[in-house]
Amino acid sequence: MADLDAIIIGAGFGGLCAAIKLKEAGFSRLVVLEKADRLGGTWRDNTYPGACCDVPSRLYSYSFALNPGWTRAYSGHAEIRQYMEDVATRFGVKDRFRFNAEVARADWDGTAWTVTLTSGETLTAPVLVSGLGQLNRPSFANIPGRETFTGPLFHSARWRHDVDLAGKTVGCVGAGASAIQYIPEIAKTAGKVIVFQRTPNYIVPRLDKAMSPLRRALYRSVPGLDRAHRWLLWKLMDLRFQAFQQGTKSADSFRKVALDYLESTISDPVLRAKLTPDYPIGCKRVLVSDDYYQAMARPNVELVTEDVAAVTSTGVRTGDGADHACDVLVFGTGFETTDFLAPLQITGENGLTLDEAWKDGAEAYYGVTVAGFPNLFLLYGPNTNLGHNSIILMIEAQVGYMVEALKALRAKGATALKVKPAAQARFNSQLQQDLQSTAWAGSCSSWYKTASGKITNNWSADTATYMKVMRTPEMADYEVA
Ligand code: NAP
Repeated sequence: MADLDAIIIGAGFGGLCAAIKLKEAGFSRLVVLEKADRLGGTWRDNTYPGACCDVPSRLYSYSFALNPGWTRAYSGHAEIRQYMEDVATRFGVKDRFRFNAEVARADWDGTAWTVTLTSGETLTAPVLVSGLGQLNRPSFANIPGRETFTGPLFHSARWRHDVDLAGKTVGCVGAGASAIQYIPEIAKTAGKVIVFQRTPNYIVPRLDKAMSPLRRALYRSVPGLDRAHRWLLWKLMDLRFQAFQQGTKSADSFRKVALDYLESTISDPVLRAKLTPDYPIGCKRVLVSDDYYQAMARPNVELVTEDVAAVTSTGVRTGDGADHACDVLVFGTGFETTDFLAPLQITGENGLTLDEAWKDGAEAYYGVTVAGFPNLFLLYGPNTNLGHNSIILMIEAQVGYMVEALKALRAKGATALKVKPAAQARFNSQLQQDLQSTAWAGSCSSWYKTASGKITNNWSADTATYMKVMRTPEMADYEVA
């Protein structure tokens, strides 16, 4: 018999939340396996200059661990990671984490999961939780020639802090959510920044500000103030979901806000045209920034919109044959997002692997359970990403759902929870139908969908809808054994 109640993979926001809530529910014999050397997930990996959250910190934190001490409306990566450490200490789960423990595979043997680490060690538990999320494996977008470049070349999620960019010509491939945060920072000291942009993004002002000591003292001392502010932010952001429905007035207004902001910050019509998106707003992530356009207007920043054909020994060659000499290359080319859980080998009932189950695109039941994989719970899994609100809300709803389902299992004296294939199919059929009216189904490429166009990453409604349905697991959709 297994001497663990659960094995959690990944020490990010999902894994930490699962450890706390499982422990509180009495599933306290658990371990969180993390391949890196400390907790933090994306906030450990992304340390690029200017890295901060584009969701307000008051909402990008757990509802059960508010932090009146946030120093900014949108806090930086170091403060967010420290918050996670503090939460782990406060809720007494620090001793459950095992670092430098990389999982290679997990196999269901009919009663329990056996997890094998890359070291060869095995651990067994009836419940397996993936806290890997959607954004943990950097992508270099298959751009050829990278190995020929003679200078430093690195990905935004593996920032080389030992490389001094002052006075250098820095080529930045990609102009997405990460790039718009570090480009303004490096432009302050670099000799020249060349931004290789394939597609322009809609950008709205972030309106970041410091939280004064007085304000922080008020959040600490006035009962309910912090929670009320969080609630208000949640509701206001949830209302924005309407803007992610194609053809709505909200979408038109949202688009106007973004284009007005572009117009008011970029006076050069040629540069403005290059920065103007031509697809429905929300189709790709809408970015928030107070300084990106301002940086793009700097004399030491050049915007190149020709396709990147290859990296050469001296820089970047674009599709028109031009060579752009660079001293350093930074790839802000995003993450491998649609093959969730890879490269882990997960084998469920009857030898079925997750790769086989997901050969036509990942799908799960409410993003959490998968037919053929008993007692496997995914956090921030397929179709649970958002474009309009805080992902922490979704993670908490998923963890709460898992705990309720496990309690129901325990009450029945059963040991295995299996989502019925028909329930999963019904859920996904409705989900894909609902997604067709959203901006994500629009005419753009994004990390939300597979090469064939199936939207595998985003949830189809607002967070209130998701949180409500996740409050009580529909046990009729499960087989228990
Ligand atoms: P991203 O937004 O997906 O941006 C990737 C960039 O690389 C895009 O500009 C993309 O262009 C470009 N690219 C990809 N392949 C290319 C190619 N072959 N040639 C030229 N350009 C290419 O990735 P990211 O910036 O790392 O952000 C990913 C996600 O992480 C975000 O959407 C967000 O959810 C999360 N994130 C969050 C925060 C936060 O503050 N909370 C901050 C950073 C990131 P195309 O647009 O043409 O594909």
